[in-house]
Amino acid sequence: MKILAIANQKGGVGKTTTAVNLAASLAHLGKQVLLVDLDPQANATMGSGIDKTKLRHSVYSLLIGESEMAATVKRSESGGFDVLPASRDLAGAEVELVDAEAREMRLKTALAQVAGQYDFVILDCPPALNLLTLNGLVAADAVMIPMQCEYYALEGLSDLVNTLKRIKQNLNRKIEIEGLLRTMFDPRSTLAQQVSDQLVKHFTSKLYHTVIPRNVRLAEAPSYGRPILAYDKSSKGAQAYLALAEELLARHGVQEAMPVM
Ligand code: ATP
Ligand code: MG
Repeated sequence: MKILAIANQKGGVGKTTTAVNLAASLAHLGKQVLLVDLDPQANATMGSGIDKTKLRHSVYSLLIGESEMAATVKRSESGGFDVLPASRDLAGAEVELVDAEAREMRLKTALAQVAGQYDFVILDCPPALNLLTLNGLVAADAVMIPMQCEYYALEGLSDLVNTLKRIKQNLNRKIEIEGLLRTMFDPRSTLAQQVSDQLVKHFTSKLYHTVIPRNVRLAEAPSYGRPILAYDKSSKGAQAYLALAEELLARHGVQEAMPVM
């Protein structure tokens, strides 16, 4: 089981879009996938077709020890993967857990229970380096960092890298940067090209070859509660996320199974 955190404390860079569509693409390629929504906005939950207002349990109740893993996991029918859903009350976890024992280890402990069940666990982190993100980074084997190729893209990256270094020293020795992902890319923008060239220069081996283009279908799909593969499979966005899943599998030397959809 590989646990991959999708993180960047910068808002609106495509974390949730990547988490949902990577989960769906890996499922499409025959992998068993669990998507964990660590953001009180619950966008990954809704985008997977799960109604956040109708949940009995959520990742919040799981983290504070009020629900069991098995009772909390939901199925995304449109995505073909399992989901640990979020609801608004997750915002309270921050406060509730502040004095709790092993407060940053809660998710790791919970995920240990399902170690044999999944090939991939994808964590959608909120746009902050808070206790929820910390739980994600402590549980994760690696981090994928989505980035928009704009002027301030690299700002903040050093904060994230420093946080990761501290976590590696103190809380999670195995954590690695799995890779940087260029999202919402517009090839006609000179600035996007320049920033992209800089990323290639500085992060060569840590940069995914796959680039996610700006594609309106990716922005539309969540309002139907569907990953892009179930909304418009032939779109550029769907093809890009499939390519990303394939690149990820190839990097890990995992043999691809037959597509299941
Ligand atoms: P937050 O920091 O608030 O959690 P995020 O990093 O999770 O945001 P998303 O919610 O995935 O970012 O994306 C921000 C917005 O951009 C959303 O409206 C989403 O639909 C849209 N979007 C994401 N990726 C693309 C893309 N490749 N093309 C077009 N629109 C996109
Ligand atoms: Mg998000």
